[in-house]
Amino acid sequence: MGSLFEVKAIDREFYQNGLQSFLPARLIDVHAHVWLDRFKSKQKEECVRAVTWPYRVAIDNSVEDLMETYHLMFPGKKILPLIFGMALSPGDDIEGGNEYVSDCAHKNHMPALIFADPRWSEVEIEEGIISGNFLGAKVYLTRSDFRIPEKDIQIYDFLPHHQLKVLDRHGWIVMLHIPRCDRLRDPLNLTQMVEIEKHYPRIKVIIAHVGRAYCPEDIGNAFEILGETRRMLFDISANTCAETFEQLIRAVGSRRILFGSDLPVLRMRTRRICEGGTYINLVPKGFYGDLAGDPHMREVEGKDADLLSFFMYEEIDAFRRAAAKTNLRESDIEAVFYGNAAELLCEVGMPESFLNGGRGRL
Ligand SMILES: [Zn+2]
Repeated sequence: MGSLFEVKAIDREFYQNGLQSFLPARLIDVHAHVWLDRFKSKQKEECVRAVTWPYRVAIDNSVEDLMETYHLMFPGKKILPLIFGMALSPGDDIEGGNEYVSDCAHKNHMPALIFADPRWSEVEIEEGIISGNFLGAKVYLTRSDFRIPEKDIQIYDFLPHHQLKVLDRHGWIVMLHIPRCDRLRDPLNLTQMVEIEKHYPRIKVIIAHVGRAYCPEDIGNAFEILGETRRMLFDISANTCAETFEQLIRAVGSRRILFGSDLPVLRMRTRRICEGGTYINLVPKGFYGDLAGDPHMREVEGKDADLLSFFMYEEIDAFRRAAAKTNLRESDIEAVFYGNAAELLCEVGMPESFLNGGRGRL
């Protein structure tokens, strides 16, 4: 049996020359999706309210595939993931997916989040998290009421107050991918992010992908506002914008930034560019199916295609450049890739033994 995906000479070079010595020996990845294809709705997407290119990279991601990915991409490192499902569509088997994640977490000594639905009552979310041994919840905009157009979705449409209350009472984690076309610079997003920090001070809010600020144009005055916050955390998953990382580091310091991957999407062979404020993933021609009509994907050929490596490496390399510009010390980098998450996860109830053992170890 061949390996899960090809690692080329150019990938090995990228890792060995730039990334291996930059990264600490142990990493915690706070943003890893695991699910099996059988949990996905087999109906044609009723109403697609999110980008579609991620589905072209992997139809599913078992915990075994996740561990093999780390093994192939990070030789010599030990990686502990915070895992959760991928129940983006309301037609998906969210219960089955959560059971699978809970089971994988239990067997492999990994921390996990429940994939939550905004329609669950206070009791339902609380019992779901406790019975599955989860440390909090992952929420997503596509589970909002289907009558709301994508551009109008607000954070509270998929992370309602009655659930925030429960998360706050227990001091649990919430992994939040913010909505809206203007992304991080959207004033309503910023207002609600600050509001949540104020009204629910015990929740550990992780803003996924640094608020989807994938291009410098997505930043606006966000970091002026976020510089005033005290607790909110940010994961760098699926973001390759060094400018965003630099401003983030200057605004909140290194202790509130967490390494995350967003695997399996980060297995994609791509380099991301920005044009007129829109991100475009450059991908090898023919690799990811028919991309016509997807403004975020562009095929390249020949030498341009041969030079493409993993999205994962591009993310870490962008952070490396931002770290150099802001003079982060080795201890700061260790904190971002490991220490901050270790502290957070233990604080919300992960057994400390998970840090040193289990099958999560490579
Ligand atoms: Zn994700």
